This record gives sequence, structure tokens and C-alpha cells, in this order.
Amino acid sequence: MMQSKAHDIVIVGGGTAGWMAASILARSTKGRLGRITLVESAEIGTVGVGEATIPPIQFFNQLLGIDERDFVARTQASFKLGIEFRNWHRKGQSYIHPFGSFGGNMDAVSFHHYWLRLRALGDGTDIGDYCPAIAAARQGRFAPEMPDGPPGGPVLAYAYHFDAALYAAYLRDFATRLGVTRIEGRITAIRQRAEDGYVSQLDLADGSSVTGDLFIDCSGFRSLLLGQTLGVGFKDWSRWLPCDRALAVPCEGGEAISPYTRSTAHAAGWQWRIPLQHRIGNGHVYSSAFMSDEEAAAILLGHLDGKPQADPRPLRFTAGRRERSWERNVVALGLAGGFLEPLESTSIHLIQTALFRLLALMPTDIKDQVTRDEFNRLTEAEYDHIRDFLILHYHATDRDDSDFWNYVRTMPVPDSLRHKMELFRARGRVARVDGQLFVEASWVAVFLGQGVDPIAYDPMAEVVKEPDLRQRLSRHLDHVRRSVAGMPMHRDFINRHCKAQETAA
Ligand SMILES: Cc1cc2nc3c(=O)[nH]c(=O)nc-3n(C[C@H](O)[C@H](O)[C@H](O)COP(=O)(O)OP(=O)(O)OC[C@H]3O[C@@H](n4cnc5c(N)ncnc54)[C@H](O)[C@@H]3O)c2cc1C
Repeated sequence: MMQSKAHDIVIVGGGTAGWMAASILARSTKGRLGRITLVESAEIGTVGVGEATIPPIQFFNQLLGIDERDFVARTQASFKLGIEFRNWHRKGQSYIHPFGSFGGNMDAVSFHHYWLRLRALGDGTDIGDYCPAIAAARQGRFAPEMPDGPPGGPVLAYAYHFDAALYAAYLRDFATRLGVTRIEGRITAIRQRAEDGYVSQLDLADGSSVTGDLFIDCSGFRSLLLGQTLGVGFKDWSRWLPCDRALAVPCEGGEAISPYTRSTAHAAGWQWRIPLQHRIGNGHVYSSAFMSDEEAAAILLGHLDGKPQADPRPLRFTAGRRERSWERNVVALGLAGGFLEPLESTSIHLIQTALFRLLALMPTDIKDQVTRDEFNRLTEAEYDHIRDFLILHYHATDRDDSDFWNYVRTMPVPDSLRHKMELFRARGRVARVDGQLFVEASWVAVFLGQGVDPIAYDPMAEVVKEPDLRQRLSRHLDHVRRSVAGMPMHRDFINRHCKAQETAA
């Protein structure tokens, strides 16, 4: 049996990706695989956005052994039960994509088929009324679990909104305490071995250098190692996801904190609203082919819930991913590996899953091609799945009030998405592959919210007798109403359990 050799790991970049990598690698390898060094440059700085997450981040925090309430207090965080999409299907219409499930499945038939059957029988109850996360979000309430949840009942899941700078600082403290060496300095040259092109050394502006065996490229959009040095190409998806710019601005928040992210569609993109304890994060994601920067800024500033705390900060990007995330001895994470707009808050999650993959596939021999191929295969599948989910939001719309909406509504979409839409339209079924991020309830929420309405439901939903079905769903509805009414208001929950000590601007 071949034993793992010690690998000195060098992480390039100290944004969210770099410090997440440093934390989990230090925690998991316990210093036994080799040294871990992180190089970051205050002069260059970080992207400074990335404040909304999805529930699997809880698993990441648990692996690190992070105390949730301390983490929430120290990052000015709030809790998130889902995302509200306003004006996406039509102007004036809104829906929530919740975390967790709508209702429990009965007799192996998914809940939404029973709801579709009742709807066909004339029942007008909104599917969201059956979902605890949606009901709590609408009332501004939050609790980490459903009081008196029945077995097999709906599941409540949540994530966080946090201050990106405080999150990176939190993880930096964590990782350096576990022995990660932090080097502050600007990388000016990257040296490769003559024989095979593997990266061997980073030269810094102060004349010093850093050597290593495995390099993790967390250098952000620059993709310093994977893109610039190793020349790995970029798969451009802007024909399906044409938004290529964002303006970000924090504003003052009020007393109430809504426990969800809001995404409001505008004429050539959309605006995020991420409420934290001390402020609200806002940003307008738009397509420069359809809107000028000035117009985008005016729309953003015209739709804030409080006084802006800074001038809007511009960001530029292209949707897509690197053709390979792992090439030679360089693995790219975060923005260095690809970018999918934050419509479903998936970027930090992609960093997390790439790290889990790296840990599961930690090479015994750094030249092991089959390991790299497997890592790249899984990364591609994950990106493609999320890409399709994002495109669905744009494509399945009735909006025809701007050139942008006319373009995305009529554009040809990837075959994989077209198949999913056809399958759902036919009988409300969701085409899934095990292990994919977005579960059935997520696809159902967005299909229905965007107006993709099934022609029929699963015939298995007919097996339950109609009076039984009515009674079961009405009991379920009652349970959700009572449970949610028993939850505290979100701000009260935070103040009681995890209030930030300082209210920094
Ligand atoms: C508009 C927008 C909104 C977003 N919203 C969300 C969201 O809500 N949820 C979510 O999950 N994700 C979101 N993201 C993505 C998220 O911000 C990133 O995935 C996350 O912050 C990780 O960034 P990073 O660490 O890869 O890059 P960065 O934060 O850019 O860090 C790069 C690091 O590399 C260092 N570096 C670069 N060059 C050099 C050099 N020559 N020498 C030394 N150091 C160097 C920099 O100093 C920095 O430390 C958003 C992204 C954008 C653009």
C-alpha cells in the first residue's frame, strides 16, 4: 500500500475561499499532512461581498466545531429561511424559495402532488401556507426548529446572512490558532518546475518566497495560478446568464430583521437585499449589454430600505467556470475557479463542497491524474446543475417589458434544463440525480413560482381517498400555523441568543 507523503500546502488568497480552505484543512489534517501557509495581500484586498448562504454551511461549521451563537454574534449575522423572488415571473408577483420541505411526503408520493390534486378539486390554499419556512418568513419569525414537529412532517432548515469581512476575519482567527502560517505580501511571480510545469514557488514583493507541494488558488477573479499561470481556459456561460456587473451598497437597517434574502427583478437584472444585525447589504446585478452603469446605480439607490452608508461599489464578472478546477498541483476554489451569480447564494457553498471533495480525494501522489480527473468531473457536474437552476429563474418568465427579459425568455436553454422543464410541465415530476444540491422542493418552488405549471399530477396521489387527503392536509396546515405562531420574532431571537457586541457601521 502506498502511504500518503507529507504535502506542504500553500493557499493563495485570504478572502472567504482562502480562509475557509485554511480552516477546514488545518482542522481535518491536524498538521499531519504537512505545513499550511496562506498568502494574502491587504493592498489588493478581497471582493468584499458574499453575505448570503444556504443550509449546508451548518455542516461546515459543525466540522470546524464552531459554536453557532458565538459565530452569529461575531459576524453580525442573521438567520435565513429562504429567498423571496419579487417581480420575476411577472411584475407585482412574488414567491419564496424556502429551505427545507413544503410538507411531509405521504406514501412515497411527494407533497406537491397532493397539493396539485387538491388544487384541481378547487382548493385555493397557497402551497407556501403548508411550508413552515415560508410561513415563518412571511411573519418575520425565526426558531431553529419546529416546535412539536410530527414524525415525517415538514422540515425546517436555515442558513445565515453575515458580514463578509467579519466572516473572513473570524475564520482567519480560527485557522491561525490551529497553526496555519499567514503571510502578508503581494505575489509578484510564480515559478514552475522546468520538467513538468508544476508550480513550485511564489515570489513576493518584499523579496521573500514561499515554496510548497500543493497550491490552492483562492486569488479571486484574477485566478493567478490556475488561469494566468497554468493557462486553464474559461467556459463562458454568458449567453444564458448575461448579467456581468454588480453595484454593491450597504444601507441602514430598521429594528425588524427579515429572516430571508430578497431578490427583486428589475429591467435588466435584479437587486439583492441581505439583512444583517447592523445593516442591510444591497446590490444590483445587471447586464451591461442592456443597461448603463448610471441607470443601474439609480435603480439600486432608488430601491433601498434605508440611508446608504457608502457609494455603490462596482464589480465585474463573467458567468462560467474554468475548464478544469484541478490542474497539475493547483486546485482553484472560489472566484478563481468560476462564477455563478449570487441569485441562489451558491458560491460559498461551492467553496465548501470543493473542499470536502479535496479532503476526500487528498492525493497520495501529487501527480495522480485519476484523482484530478475525478475531482474535475464532480466539480463540473455540480456547476452545471446550479447553472441550470439559475437559468430557470430568467427563462421561465412572462415578463416582456424590456429587451433583457425578451432575450432571456426566448433564448435557447441547455438541453438538461429543457428536459427538466418538460418533465415538470407534463406531470409535476422533478428530474434529479442523487447528490445534487437543489432538492425536489427547491425545483418545485421555483417552477411554480416562475409559472411552470404542471398539466397533471402523479396518479399515485389518487390512491388516498379525497376526504382523507383533505383531512391530512388540513391537519398539516393547522400544525404549521400553530408552530409558527409559537416562534419568536427574528430580532427577538437574535437579541436573546446571539446579539453582536459592537454595532459597527
Ligand atoms: C456581486 C457579488 C455578490 C456575491 N454574493 C454572494 C452571496 O450572497 N453568497 C455567496 O455564497 N457568494 C456570493 N458571491 C461570491 C463570493 O463573494 C465569493 O465566492 C467569496 O467571497 C469568495 O471569494 P474569493 O475568496 O474566491 O476571492 P476574493 O475575496 O477576491 O479573495 C482573493 C484573495 O486573493 C488575494 N490575492 C489576489 N492576488 C494576489 C496577489 N498577487 N498576491 C497576494 N494575494 C493576492 C487577495 O488579496 C484576496 O485575499 C458574490 C460575488 C459577487 C461578485
